[in-house]
Amino acid sequence: MRCMRKAWSILPEEWKPILAEHGLRPFRADQILHALYREWITDWDQATTLPKDFRETLKKEFPLTSAETLDVSSSADGTKKLLLGFDDGEAVETVLIPATGRFTQCISTQVGCAMGCAFCASGAKGVVRSLTADEIVAEYLAGRREGEITNIVVMGMGEPFMNYDETLRALKLINAGKGPNLGARHITLSTCGVVPGFARLASEGMQFELSVSLHAPNDELRSQLMPVNRRWPIDELLEACADYTRATKRIITFEYTVIKGVNDSRACAEELARQVKRVPMAKVNLIPLSPVSHRPDFKTPDEQTLMMFLDVLMKNRVQTMLRRSRGKDADAACGQLRLRRIGG
Ligand code: SAH
Repeated sequence: MRCMRKAWSILPEEWKPILAEHGLRPFRADQILHALYREWITDWDQATTLPKDFRETLKKEFPLTSAETLDVSSSADGTKKLLLGFDDGEAVETVLIPATGRFTQCISTQVGCAMGCAFCASGAKGVVRSLTADEIVAEYLAGRREGEITNIVVMGMGEPFMNYDETLRALKLINAGKGPNLGARHITLSTCGVVPGFARLASEGMQFELSVSLHAPNDELRSQLMPVNRRWPIDELLEACADYTRATKRIITFEYTVIKGVNDSRACAEELARQVKRVPMAKVNLIPLSPVSHRPDFKTPDEQTLMMFLDVLMKNRVQTMLRRSRGKDADAACGQLRLRRIGG
């Protein structure tokens, strides 16, 4: 049975067998890959090295997914947010973050998010649907039109481990040598702690980086902030993290969003240090909370508190970085991406 496949969901090595399956000449695969990932076509008609009738077949059998830029917001710090619309009227946000020698794209994997973390705008209205691999690739390609992407962080809207197959397919495609060829170590996945995802990712044998959103050092507090903790509490999560680092020999970075008066005490810092040390090769990124409109009671901690928190972790020999989220004035910072409906 032949079925229509979206071109941007097909891994480079799959093109030859798929063309053969469709009764098409496999040698066209290299020309197709050249058009897609060297000429960066957005419409098969632009692939002028291919015969016209073949282009018509490609249009029918292997359509190119459109991700139309519906809106652009720019921050004073150079961060840019694009609102991208898909054919069914759903939309996601992607953020482009320039830095010296780097141009990072923050990618969304779902329209909205089901995880419901209290401090995050992306989950405030639940999830509408997951993106397909070709939509995630189209999102990357939309970002790429803004400049050469050097790094991807899967830290936009959605929980990548709740859309595991499509997310991994997209990242493998973006990483593929005959595709966009972005190095795996330049691609970071971030999860709120969906435990089954860790063993699956370890078994892929890919060199992607992994971040884990922790945000609280004990179950009582973490379950209040992150409903996912009721399903997979801290002990289970840290065990999965430790297994992951042992199996892959790769580090895990714990993200800790610091919220004033909620998880910013000295006792929290000390408990966090103890927890993190249960995982070999773990690092911590502290991120001061970005304000979100649905939770005006959550505030950014002051500098003194952040320095105290950092100091406790360092004294406990936990490798820690204090990160400043970019793009706040464009609602493009961590946790500020939110669901937008087009036309209503
Ligand atoms: N679902 C994945 C991917 C989202 S990454 C995950 O949870 O890891 C987005 C990161 O920003 C996560 O670490 C998230 O917890 C953090 N974040 C969410 N809301 C935030 C806020 N208001 N301020 C700072 N960071 C926030």
